[in-house]
Amino acid sequence: MRIRFWGTRGSIPTPGPRTLRYGGNTACVELRTDDGHFFILDCGTGLFELGRELAGESQPMVGSILLSHTHWDHTQGFAFFGPAYRKGNVFTVYAAPGVDRSLSDVLAQQMDYLNFPISLEERGAAVKYEEVGEETFGVDNVRVRTQYLNHTVLTLGFRIMSGGASVVYVADHEPFSPGLYRSGVTDPTLADIVHAGDRKHVDFLRDADLVIHDAQFTEAEFERRHNWGHGTAEYVVDVCVAAGVTEVALFHHDPDHDDALVERIEWDAQERARARGSNLRVVAAAEGMVINLPESADGEPGDETWHPSTGRPAQARILVADDEPGLVQVVGAVLAKDGYEILVARDGEEALEVIRREHPDLILLDVMMPKLDGYGVLRELRATPEFRDVPVIMLTARVGEEDIVRSFEGGVTDYISKPAAPSLLRSRVRRWLLSQE
Ligand SMILES: [Zn+2]
Ligand SMILES: [Zn+2]
Repeated sequence: MRIRFWGTRGSIPTPGPRTLRYGGNTACVELRTDDGHFFILDCGTGLFELGRELAGESQPMVGSILLSHTHWDHTQGFAFFGPAYRKGNVFTVYAAPGVDRSLSDVLAQQMDYLNFPISLEERGAAVKYEEVGEETFGVDNVRVRTQYLNHTVLTLGFRIMSGGASVVYVADHEPFSPGLYRSGVTDPTLADIVHAGDRKHVDFLRDADLVIHDAQFTEAEFERRHNWGHGTAEYVVDVCVAAGVTEVALFHHDPDHDDALVERIEWDAQERARARGSNLRVVAAAEGMVINLPESADGEPGDETWHPSTGRPAQARILVADDEPGLVQVVGAVLAKDGYEILVARDGEEALEVIRREHPDLILLDVMMPKLDGYGVLRELRATPEFRDVPVIMLTARVGEEDIVRSFEGGVTDYISKPAAPSLLRSRVRRWLLSQE
């Protein structure tokens, strides 16, 4: 496999003397397997230069575009991708389902008459769209596994596996809990990871040859920017060490970070990996950087099969159980934007009544409520076969790791601390409605 970085920046392009070394174009990575499969990871402004390079190659070409999500910094190069204008070329775009519009509609909007002179349909190449959820699918003999990330809109991470080599692409992702491991544990194991979401993330990265990972913020910035959907290089090193990863490329550099700061983040991250006694190689992704990974003939067994997308859960009914009327109103209004029907309960006993009567598709549960607290409701639900699998998200002001650990031990599906950014809450709710485990 050969990986080449065409855009490494997050949020907004930042060309200029400040960013010469690591680059100013937004997210775009090229990946080619040894047998010639061609993948484009995200369509940020780096895609323009990639398109120029491809113009010199033999046509027609067939490629797969893995789109993590539809934020501008991951799609802005789409309209300027030269090979998409060549008749005979075929591209398939894989991405998570849109909320109220199809994927092609979201991309077509960028090329709306007022935004761009050529419409999506006027381009010469055939572009197909595949909406994928959390699943594994095949592109000939390459397998791609997806996982939902913790970001402000539904976002996919991709694990691309070919000939025994594997690359994981995690463009935009915030740690699920501020600390990965329970405090005070020396020599922590997977069981000491506080939040189940982070444990699942480590599993997704497990033994990868290369991980390309969001490391947008310094720790000081992250303190002020919880809920923005990005994380730190410290978190990246910790999850990669826990997962036994060989090499990690820090990615999605903050637009405010100049070359000197990115370099310092890179050094600090290398130091952190060494301090953990790990051989993890750490680099900061730079525009133009190439990484080669050897493939072997006997790859990982291809046991997974294609699962169709799980579709749009527009009709879902969600119970918001909380004793603060103001919060119920705000959360209800946020979720109603995605077309869900909102049910309300003001204490634990009422929550159980509503659940038994209405069978909601998902439950948002406060911890501290009159009559019966959130743990009591959870215990009752998980002891009832009918409600054992319904997704329950604790949405609570309690942020202590003991509360998080206790909730997961009690069978909660997810845990979100208040105040939660509306965009992050929407993304997490949608994620569980699409993929119930
Ligand atoms: Zn981004
Ligand atoms: Zn984003």
